[in-house]
Amino acid sequence: MQKEIVFNVEVLNSLLTYSLNNHPYEGILLLRGKVGKDKVEVENVTIPPMSVRGIAFSSFPLHMLPLDSSIIGTAHSHPSGFLEPSLDDLHHFYGIIMVIIRYPYRSVEDVGVFDREGRKLSFTVKK
Ligand SMILES: [Zn+2]
Repeated sequence: MQKEIVFNVEVLNSLLTYSLNNHPYEGILLLRGKVGKDKVEVENVTIPPMSVRGIAFSSFPLHMLPLDSSIIGTAHSHPSGFLEPSLDDLHHFYGIIMVIIRYPYRSVEDVGVFDREGRKLSFTVKK
């Protein structure tokens, strides 16, 4: 059984807006929230502590991430419009979940949540 994954609606909107603003480059964000026994709550997003604009996710220096237990995963955009993690993405998996936002970044339909194995996870958006 997968944990229930809940996004705050503001988080979802931030992911879509940030991706759109970075297009045609990949945008990368860190996800903050809480991980419970059977629930993962994504409460806010934060920009990584360095400029990664225009750098592919695969070259994102994970060792430079702050040691911060509230970071539960990463999110990045796919300007290609492809809603699946690449092998490189899975190699650089960090945290509990990986979120991909695909072009055209319009709605929840353009957002995918994946686990370490690249399996798509279901999630809900809380108003
Ligand atoms: Zn990717």
